[in-house]
Amino acid sequence: MTPHCPKCGSPNVISRNLGRKVGGATGAAAGAASGAAGALSGAKAGALVGAMIGPAGITIGSLSGAVFGGLLGGTTFGAAGAKLGHEIDQKILDNYACCDWDCTFRPHAE
Ligand SMILES: [Zn+2]
Repeated sequence: MTPHCPKCGSPNVISRNLGRKVGGATGAAAGAASGAAGALSGAKAGALVGAMIGPAGITIGSLSGAVFGGLLGGTTFGAAGAKLGHEIDQKILDNYACCDWDCTFRPHAE
């Protein structure tokens, strides 16, 4: 639900979601970095497990380990960043802007 502007009462209110955008981007970047690290350790773990099966197992193991590690890191951090940004939007930033006047405001407790 979109609130009305508390300053001029206008219903033409947009949510800016600045923090969520920044947080999501930052989280995705951090996720990519940790995803790379996760891919590396995933590949190592996969290769270890695969080595028990044989040479082909090493390749398959490190590949699937890398994919899983990278995916997990990227997704986890991306989601965490977006969530954090959302929190910042709600609690710190003036998340709403009014189209009629040049006012920004914070929503009341949701
Ligand atoms: Zn307004």
